[in-house]
Amino acid sequence: MIELPEAVVLARQINQILVGKHIKKALANHSPHKFAWYSGDPAHYNALLAGKTIRSALATANEVVLQADEIELILSASLRYYPAGERLPARHQLLLEFDDGTALTATIQMWGCLFCVREGEPVGFEDYRLGRERPSPLTAAFNRAYFNSLLAENNNKLSAKAFLATEQRIPGLGNGVLQDILWVAQIHPKRRMDSLQEKEREHLFGAVKSVLHEMADLGGRDTERDLFGCPGGYKTILSKNTVNTPCPVCDTIIKKEAYLGGSIYYCPGCQKE
Ligand SMILES: [Zn+2]
Repeated sequence: MIELPEAVVLARQINQILVGKHIKKALANHSPHKFAWYSGDPAHYNALLAGKTIRSALATANEVVLQADEIELILSASLRYYPAGERLPARHQLLLEFDDGTALTATIQMWGCLFCVREGEPVGFEDYRLGRERPSPLTAAFNRAYFNSLLAENNNKLSAKAFLATEQRIPGLGNGVLQDILWVAQIHPKRRMDSLQEKEREHLFGAVKSVLHEMADLGGRDTERDLFGCPGGYKTILSKNTVNTPCPVCDTIIKKEAYLGGSIYYCPGCQKE
């Protein structure tokens, strides 16, 4: 699942390689997926997109917003670029073919959106609206005072995981990037926010900023792939790649368990419950 750092990386790569390309053909819902969400009938995507030119891309929360003239594609999916002549995958939920023979595919892993709307048209997806309205944790507007204001909104009884990674409270911070943020802050995912000392809150705020910046700067997490199919350069400390291996700081074995509708990874040595 892409989250903020990967959306930033994909948008950056699209701006480098796809801007100016003309869409020859669009094909949506080629491989039906239960949790791929379209805006309207995917059969209409070609009529909206064919003949349009890619103008720019930006990242917002978990989505890449691709501007093609007056049309916006809002994609929360794995995106892959194919040079001319390269064989396209058999399965995809969206394919854009460009008139120079290159192509872009979008595929959904667990769930995700593939909206195609006229610029500014509401898409009726609350998570997206919130993600676009609220300050990105990668911007200066997301400062300590803003972070404190989130805590003041009666969120003190939530666990650290629920506070950080649910309801788009922090755009693009999901259950994936969460794990290393909490490890860096040395906070267990189940700790209640009102149990944190002032110093721990300070560390947590710092970890949100520094870990997300590092992930975005290094090309995303190594558990995800970029526009060219390469894993990101950020080596995850807590992920499916490192579970049951020793913590790099204290040598305690990294654990995985189910919590709040997803897996949490933590170091029982560094992150005391
Ligand atoms: Zn440790």
